[in-house]
Amino acid sequence: MSKALGLLSGGLDSTLAALALKRQGVDVTGIVYVTPFFGAERAKIAARQIGIPLIVKDISDVHLEMLKNPRYGYGRNLNPCIDCHAMMFRIAGEMVSQGDFDFLFSGEVLGQRPMSQNANALKAVAKHAGCGDLILRPLSAKLLPIIPVEERGLVDREQLLDIQGRSRRPQEALARQWGLKDYPGSGGGCLLTEKSFTNRLRDLLTHHPDCTPRDVELLKAGRQVRLSPKAKLTLGRNLQTNERLLELATTEHILLRAADFSGPTGLLSGQPEGDDLSIAAAIVATYGKGQNETQVSVLCTQGDKRWQLTVTPLTREEIEPLIVP
Ligand code: SF4
Repeated sequence: MSKALGLLSGGLDSTLAALALKRQGVDVTGIVYVTPFFGAERAKIAARQIGIPLIVKDISDVHLEMLKNPRYGYGRNLNPCIDCHAMMFRIAGEMVSQGDFDFLFSGEVLGQRPMSQNANALKAVAKHAGCGDLILRPLSAKLLPIIPVEERGLVDREQLLDIQGRSRRPQEALARQWGLKDYPGSGGGCLLTEKSFTNRLRDLLTHHPDCTPRDVELLKAGRQVRLSPKAKLTLGRNLQTNERLLELATTEHILLRAADFSGPTGLLSGQPEGDDLSIAAAIVATYGKGQNETQVSVLCTQGDKRWQLTVTPLTREEIEPLIVP
């Protein structure tokens, strides 16, 4: 029995691709990657549903470095899909080289996404991944040239599919036929395709090109307030995000919260200069219950250091231009 390792996002296409192989007797394992932009939850549900093992691999650091300068550029937002897919295949391909699997597969469908899944894009992914001969696309295989995996008899091409185009109907019909019940709709699952998130990410990459996955996590943890090219305040939105900011804080960050009023936690990052800290404290005061006071004490914490600042809250109109949309 041949052994295949497939990129399993947990969406319908990758789940069907895994099933297409499993149904013809291939020993199928899924692999899913974790970064600050996408996680493994959907893949875990899908793997459980179709009864295949799943490898979960955190690639946050290498993925972020690729994202800063993708060879094939970005899609509609900051999604470097060709480079991203190639990276996923390259890492999975290393497991094939080590002899753990015979070939790779994915749920890519020819022509489904005009930019990232046309024939040229599929070729670019294969070339850039460096393991193109090993990559099978079961959902469109009959429309694509025969690859060595098929020539070697590791998979029966006749039982593969010839789906192409943007319509989801063939996949939905197949899901019904194969008894697949719960699957997520198309799209979703990757923050790099969401406009509001990528605005914040673009601001980060512009002002802090050396940013790390932790800096990206801050973008998800609250409102972003750009104080200067080098300093930024992240403002918690609720109890949960306030706690998340405490988790993400390092000794390089300054945490702020009003001393005598409830309100958000703020995390000041970068290299604050001049008035940056007092403006950050005033913003924290503005979003708290002391917003109508003339003076508010704000507690500042950095590692073991603690001190207080007394500030006058600003108006929301004064803060508005600083907020990263
Ligand atoms: S949508 Fe996101 S996860 Fe998917 S290939 Fe593009 S960048 Fe990667």
